[in-house]
Amino acid sequence: MSEQDWDQYLLETQAIRAGHQRSHEDEHSMPIFATSSYVFKSAEEASLRFTGQQPGNIYSRFTNPTVNAFQQRLALMEKGERCLAFSSGMAAIMAVGMGLLKAGDHVLCSRSVFGNTVLMFQNYFGKFGVETDFVSLTDLSAWEKAIKPNTRFLFLETPSNPLIEIADIAALAEIAHKNNTLLIVDNVFCTPALQKPLTLGADLVVHSATKYIDGHGRCVGGAVVGSDELIEQQIYPFLRTGGATMSPFNAWVFLSGLETLSIRMKAHCDNAFELAKWLEQQPGVENVYYPGLSNHPQHELAKQQQTHFGGVVSFEVKGDKQQAWELIDSTQLLSITANLGDVKTTITHPATTTHGRLTPEVRAKAGIKDNLVRISVGLENVEDVKQDLAVLCG
Ligand SMILES: *Cc1c(COP(=O)(O)O)cnc(C)c1O
Repeated sequence: MSEQDWDQYLLETQAIRAGHQRSHEDEHSMPIFATSSYVFKSAEEASLRFTGQQPGNIYSRFTNPTVNAFQQRLALMEKGERCLAFSSGMAAIMAVGMGLLKAGDHVLCSRSVFGNTVLMFQNYFGKFGVETDFVSLTDLSAWEKAIKPNTRFLFLETPSNPLIEIADIAALAEIAHKNNTLLIVDNVFCTPALQKPLTLGADLVVHSATKYIDGHGRCVGGAVVGSDELIEQQIYPFLRTGGATMSPFNAWVFLSGLETLSIRMKAHCDNAFELAKWLEQQPGVENVYYPGLSNHPQHELAKQQQTHFGGVVSFEVKGDKQQAWELIDSTQLLSITANLGDVKTTITHPATTTHGRLTPEVRAKAGIKDNLVRISVGLENVEDVKQDLAVLCG
């Protein structure tokens, strides 16, 4: 079946069957093509492949059948025309910048993005004359006011980490396009199983496949999805030259991750919702941040924009850093790690780990208090997760 034919199928079906072109061995399951280069039938064919006049494999820095299968599958699931895989989520974000930006350009970024994304724009693109401003994720007028004539793109994550705020993707896409600029959405927290930013007007989606796409905390990888024009003309040349390539083995792991993504995301979301409602009832808890709760400021928006509310819950314990650390250290089952999107439930203290390099003032401005705890809810029985947090019961 061609790529177009897969469009008629729904996400769960694409996730399992799209992307694999069976080889002459008639294998049922996607093989790992562990080869760095490919053999041409003639000097002429080699020449046609290198100039792009003939499609086909050349060299695994930029063409590999296993990686290609992953790219085609994720492109379909995100409803994009093309996808490029990278060695990590950060490599994907770097490639977007290297492909789209030049000295003198301006980037407008949400204040609530992954810490390394901030460093990438500010410290690395900043070295080459790109200026980045940061705005509040949920304040539409702040975004609009901060756009400059040289703004190349707006960049955000929704839901945000660790306070699980929701941005209005359609409204921001409209603001971006009215001002002749692009909207890029990091879709790591939702994955296409819960939200498809391209269908809401975003121009590019970036992923860390390391999180829910793998889903079992094994491999590091990333991807960019969007239109043929942006991907083919602007970003692919950098991948081919820069070489932050996804390995065929990792692509093979992520392909099987995609097969169960939808069913895992639903189970993560069910467990997270249940845990959020339970946390709200506990005497040791002050505030719960979860968009499924009706008191969440963007509850209605989350209902419209996402099919489920996500697998990450944050909350403030009664007390300060000491009480937060005591809770974390009291757990027997949960893993104390900053990773997320794993079948195993993980617990972390943002103020001293993922957001520990921020100054206390910046952290306060971002609303990340010392008594905040973040849980990426896994697929264990949620009753056992509650049991592990029993010190919160009073
Ligand atoms: C982890 C993460 C990244 C970076 O991905 P890596 O695969 O670790 O390089 C980017 N954005 C978000 C939201 C993440 O959680």
